[in-house]
Amino acid sequence: MTVVRWAPSPTGRIHLGNARPALLNWFFARRTGGRYVLRMDDTDLARSTREFADGIEVDLAWLGVTPDLLVRQSERTALYDAARDKLIAAGRLYPAYETEDELDRKRARARLLGKPPTYDRAALSLTAEDKAKYEAEGRKPHWRFKLDGRPVQFQDLIKGQQTVNTASMSDPVLIRADGSYLYTLPSVVDDIDLGITHVIRGEDHVSNTGTQIEIIEALGGTVPTFAHHNLLTDAAGQGFSKRLGSQSISDFRNEGYEPLAVAIMATLTGTSLPIEPYENLDAIAEKLELSMISHGAARFDPAELDSLNARLLHTMSYEEALPRLSSMGLEGEAIWLLLRENLVRFPDIAEWSKLVTGPIEPVVADEDREFLDVAKAMLPAEPWDETTWSTWTNALKGATGRKGKPLFMPLRMALTGRHDGPELKSLLVLLGRKACLDRLP
Ligand code: GLU
Repeated sequence: MTVVRWAPSPTGRIHLGNARPALLNWFFARRTGGRYVLRMDDTDLARSTREFADGIEVDLAWLGVTPDLLVRQSERTALYDAARDKLIAAGRLYPAYETEDELDRKRARARLLGKPPTYDRAALSLTAEDKAKYEAEGRKPHWRFKLDGRPVQFQDLIKGQQTVNTASMSDPVLIRADGSYLYTLPSVVDDIDLGITHVIRGEDHVSNTGTQIEIIEALGGTVPTFAHHNLLTDAAGQGFSKRLGSQSISDFRNEGYEPLAVAIMATLTGTSLPIEPYENLDAIAEKLELSMISHGAARFDPAELDSLNARLLHTMSYEEALPRLSSMGLEGEAIWLLLRENLVRFPDIAEWSKLVTGPIEPVVADEDREFLDVAKAMLPAEPWDETTWSTWTNALKGATGRKGKPLFMPLRMALTGRHDGPELKSLLVLLGRKACLDRLP
């Protein structure tokens, strides 16, 4: 049984870059019949809020993902405390008393000497008296994990064989001086506790993985399989960021995009699977293998989102559209089938439906007045069906000698007020004879 997790930090609304691992994990769970855990990484109390966490749940549901389990790290501190104690007992977690300033100075000195600015582990040689002295000064320690400095190897399901050399890294701080946990330890503890079998996340975490594998082993846990995917960037090649206010998933929802279009763009950009309309998320899950995710950049193209969104709408069934049509007061299968092929985003239907319901502003060129008089006079009697348009225009062709654009365009401009739009043969039937007579000058 596979178990995956998506672990967002509820410090803002999620964006496309966050949606990528959210959905890649979902596809993997669906493909393997596994479980999906939504884990709120909310240990950063200063920046995490319940509102953001609730918003993430809403956005995830909108994208079509239903987690099997939701956990919040803020409710699991006892587990982290137990792991902390275990690591201290094993000699892998040690207190350090340097202030930020002191650490800055050490790094600057190392750089001057041409050495890497890694932590010098001075805290490891503190005596009991040294520590007592610091404590008496009112200093509280932060806690560092003692890396064992060997190259950590793992087989990444996307990037292949990986080696992280922890010898070139500073012993990571796992616990801040105020006792709060940084991301690393709670993440590992939860992955072990929840039986996570596969960790699928962005490639910005590869070096974390080296550290985390060491911690998992120090805690006696089973090391999961890792897969690090390329990160999505915006059209300019910039990473998405909550802090920089990247367009959020809820923005796309408010702008009327289809969740499936957003999901496809978030996941298939930068893979070898084509960006095209899929029936649903499961249809993608069936096809997308982690090995299809490219190693290069994944650049999001907003124009491609628009065209994909449009393509999804152009074939959307009336049943699927109905709930939203009803809420806009636009029921009617014939109208939907006529207008859907003009939509880029669903809300466009409101504007297009005015072609049927009116009022519209007919556009009539002077040189077409006479022609339109004839057209009006020759408008067939009802009942009308889809053949009425060709009956009418063939008769007009015979009477006026016009054909092609000079024949059709004046009719379109007069009946709709614009030069593009839905098929006239269907629009005519929906309008009926009375409305057509009213629109023709
Ligand atoms: N909260 C972390 C992040 O958003 C989770 C990383 C992980 O999947 O382990 O980057």
